[in-house]
Amino acid sequence: MPEGDTIYGAARRIRAALVGKEIASIETPHARFARDRWPERLSGRAVHAVDSRGKHLFIRFDGDLTLHSHLRMSGWWGVYERGRRWGRSPSRAWLVIRTDRHEVVQFGGPVLELMTDSRSRFDHRIARLGPDVLAEEFDEAAFLRRLREDDQSRGLGDALLDQRNVCGIGNLWKAEGCFVAGLDPWRRLAEVSDEEALTAVHAVRPLMLRSAEGGGHVREPMVFERHGRPCPRCGGTIRARGQGDDNRTTYWCPGCQA
Ligand SMILES: [Zn+2]
Repeated sequence: MPEGDTIYGAARRIRAALVGKEIASIETPHARFARDRWPERLSGRAVHAVDSRGKHLFIRFDGDLTLHSHLRMSGWWGVYERGRRWGRSPSRAWLVIRTDRHEVVQFGGPVLELMTDSRSRFDHRIARLGPDVLAEEFDEAAFLRRLREDDQSRGLGDALLDQRNVCGIGNLWKAEGCFVAGLDPWRRLAEVSDEEALTAVHAVRPLMLRSAEGGGHVREPMVFERHGRPCPRCGGTIRARGQGDDNRTTYWCPGCQA
């Protein structure tokens, strides 16, 4: 599942391909967009910005129109040189933006919508997001405020996954962040100090940035999906168990995460 680092990296590649470039064509091959007339509505408009917030991605066109995307579990962004073979089946393409040199393709979704720029900033799904773990300056105060407003009986790992507390961290980086910080993901928020909560976020941020550099592919997890194997720090056995209302599997080492 794409997490914040994947989207951050995709935004950077899409930005390089589209901003300041002449858009040759825009297509929406999927039937669900047949009546939306995006090709006509976006025709002749340049892309002036591409940005991400957590797992949301925005392609901003001149004239106050923004494409908003969220890939959820199965979607994918591809940026290809013209003529290169796409990494996924063309039958799954929802959006294709072409320039002289590149094809930018969103495969699957499920969220792809065209909205005004201002709505993209105030839409409730976006406005309620917590501070972005990959923002140039992470807003520690806002993160701690939201964390303390949350249910303090909640486990730290579960709380870090909630995009209203901090956005961009998914299941992989939740597990890795708790591990690097030496914190038990099951510890209740009431028993986690502000300093410890910040340690988990600061632990994960450089790893996510490095992963984004590698297009979201450079990931060598220390505990994620390594249950039953030895912990790289203490040699204990890594465990796995579902956590929170969504029962997302968390991975941790009981030997060195307290
Ligand atoms: Zn360990």
